[in-house]
Amino acid sequence: MKFQSTRNVNRKATPSEAIFSGIAPDGGLYVPEEFPALSMEGITAFAGKPYYENAARVLGAFFTDFTEEEILACTKNAYLGKFENDIPAPLTMLGENCCLIELWHGPTCAFKDIALQLLPYLLAKAAEKCGGGKKSVILTATSGDTGKAALEGFCNVPGTEIFVFYPEDGVSSMQKLQMASQKGENVHVRAVKGNFDDTQTAVKRIFTDEAVKAALAEKGMAFSSANSINIGRLVPQIVYYLEAYAKLAADGKIKAGDEINIAVPSGNFGDILAAYYAKKMGLPVHKLICASNSNHVLTDFIRTGVYDRNRRFYTTVTPSMDILISSNLERLLFDYSDKDAAVVPALMKALAEKGVYEVSGKVKAGLQTDFWAGWCSEEDTFRTVGEVFADYHYLCDTHTAVALEVCRRYRQENGDRRMTVTVSTASPYKFPASVLKAVTGETTSDEFAAAEKLEQISGMLMPESLRALKNAEIRFTGLSGKEDLKEYVLSTIGG
Ligand SMILES: *Cc1c(COP(=O)(O)O)cnc(C)c1O
Repeated sequence: MKFQSTRNVNRKATPSEAIFSGIAPDGGLYVPEEFPALSMEGITAFAGKPYYENAARVLGAFFTDFTEEEILACTKNAYLGKFENDIPAPLTMLGENCCLIELWHGPTCAFKDIALQLLPYLLAKAAEKCGGGKKSVILTATSGDTGKAALEGFCNVPGTEIFVFYPEDGVSSMQKLQMASQKGENVHVRAVKGNFDDTQTAVKRIFTDEAVKAALAEKGMAFSSANSINIGRLVPQIVYYLEAYAKLAADGKIKAGDEINIAVPSGNFGDILAAYYAKKMGLPVHKLICASNSNHVLTDFIRTGVYDRNRRFYTTVTPSMDILISSNLERLLFDYSDKDAAVVPALMKALAEKGVYEVSGKVKAGLQTDFWAGWCSEEDTFRTVGEVFADYHYLCDTHTAVALEVCRRYRQENGDRRMTVTVSTASPYKFPASVLKAVTGETTSDEFAAAEKLEQISGMLMPESLRALKNAEIRFTGLSGKEDLKEYVLSTIGG
């Protein structure tokens, strides 16, 4: 299996090269040349197996220059002893034909753990294969959850050093505490003046800066990425969609071969793209339901074919979705334009220069066949968290609520009664003040007091890793302008 850049199909990489470098030298994203196919028996065989085995099956089909033993070693390290009961993706039914995949039972209580507990092991192996012994320097922009999950995954991993940048006012107080108190000798955390898009754009620029790359090479180092632009982040996210389907079939909730819908609260478009990739591998999916918050650039795009980031940016109660430039869309555009090498570079140039582009009729038709999109206001997000608790005695986080509400509207508009799998992306205790307000109407800025009240009301306990933040020592307080990140990286690295 080879990977190719979305901006130049002749730019090929082996799986380990694609993982090690994170982004193609031309600024494009690596995509697999073709998708391995799974039969229905192949998919249903996921039921009843340990998660690490299922993950190894999927990874092995993409990362073909790793041996079976190497992949299995990586997935065992990632999925044994790290997630509650060693079940990274348990299912919960909310009424008939509505199933949640809870992806927040890992160390940082958000779905990013599923891929980021694994990526450091994949990266270390890839570095052995093609990195020439170079140390990997991970640069990560975060809208809140990726940062902590990456720090936790890479903490004290030999041969790596990690930088995490987050928008000063763009993350929740719990997320900020999680990052600022991170332990480890190889970690750096920095707040950036601006929003997530400013931060992500500044980080992408450092990646492709020839002078910085040369300075790193001199020190025996090379950049890589823990963001979902790295294909090593994306492939592990395919696993839980296949597994959920197999479990539903094994439990008799669906029949093998039935189509399902999948609803995903989306930001950088990584999680839903992994679901689209699962569909390409053979998972019977009717619609991929893309849910957004008030920053609904994706909803408008899927409905009209026009991507326009020139709009007001809102800071919301779903900070991990406060994004106007969704990186992974590039991979989808590449696919729908039949890998036409001219299409993606032209669209990305228009996005960079004018902030807007319009896709061809063919791309739009592809989009609307596979996807349905909607967005949820702040008010509706709170209402939904409250209703889900009232109806099912189930506490869901705000991001999950956005997906549940958009899914409800999809059903109402289309009368579609197929089983719908909704991705639950964070623990409600990551955003306790918002969840408490939704459930009882009480407002407080004390996240820990809010969490205690939620425990009393719901009987569900706050994860220990979050409870411990109350008395955690703060290690990182620095703030940089977005123009100064390059300087900060160069002066801090290796120290
Ligand atoms: C990252 C994140 C999302 C969005 O996922 P993308 O892959 O960026 O689309 C949604 N919810 C939560 C809680 C997240 O951390």
